[in-house]
Amino acid sequence: MDKGLFLVISGPSGVGKGTVCKKVVGRNERLLHSISMTTRAPRKGEKEGVDYNFVKEEEFIELIDSGAFMEWARVYGNYYGTPALRVEEIRAKGFDVLLEIDVQGAKQIRSNYEGGIFVFLLPPSMEELLRRIKERATDSSDNIAKRYSAAYNELQEVWKYDYFIVNNDISSAVKRIEAIILAEKCRVNKNNKLLYHILEKGDCSDTSVNR
Ligand code: 5GP
Repeated sequence: MDKGLFLVISGPSGVGKGTVCKKVVGRNERLLHSISMTTRAPRKGEKEGVDYNFVKEEEFIELIDSGAFMEWARVYGNYYGTPALRVEEIRAKGFDVLLEIDVQGAKQIRSNYEGGIFVFLLPPSMEELLRRIKERATDSSDNIAKRYSAAYNELQEVWKYDYFIVNNDISSAVKRIEAIILAEKCRVNKNNKLLYHILEKGDCSDTSVNR
């Protein structure tokens, strides 16, 4: 069995990554969310082990030292990281995994791992981005300004990604992510084992291969 795909989704804070990613994972049973660790305090409504694993800074730093993260970054004063083990376990079972991470983390993954699919979410406009950042009433005004000004630099990273999606409308963004996944599943170089198997049998009629 070929390993599952891993999809990296980035975009500026407030672009709607969280909503789009939750929806796409909810609709696709073979796609799982990588749950990041963070030292940030939970926002209202966020659940431990669902939205993030919330940990203390000392614990996070120990995990960095022990090499537990596939990537990690400090974003707006807090640490965020992707535990490597969970991603590997998911992929080894043939499931696909979605990593919703910032541009610094994506850069690390691009240099250290092969085969990632990199997708960048763009806001419909900067004005709309600011409106969405403000809508998250949990942020202090300082954080709002930080997130908005960081967005200008983050957007320049789009050139390093494989795909971009303008998040005008959630359901159309979700459909586009699904289309990307589908296209990637038809890539010859991501399905070597499957193709050898099909060619050995001399039979392509087994539709279960279209996972
Ligand atoms: P928030 O505090 O709004 O949940 O997330 C702030 C930023 O950190 C977002 O851009 C989010 O995508 C990013 N982020 C979340 N988890 C991770 C992670 O595991 N690694 C990295 N590098 N960034 C992350």
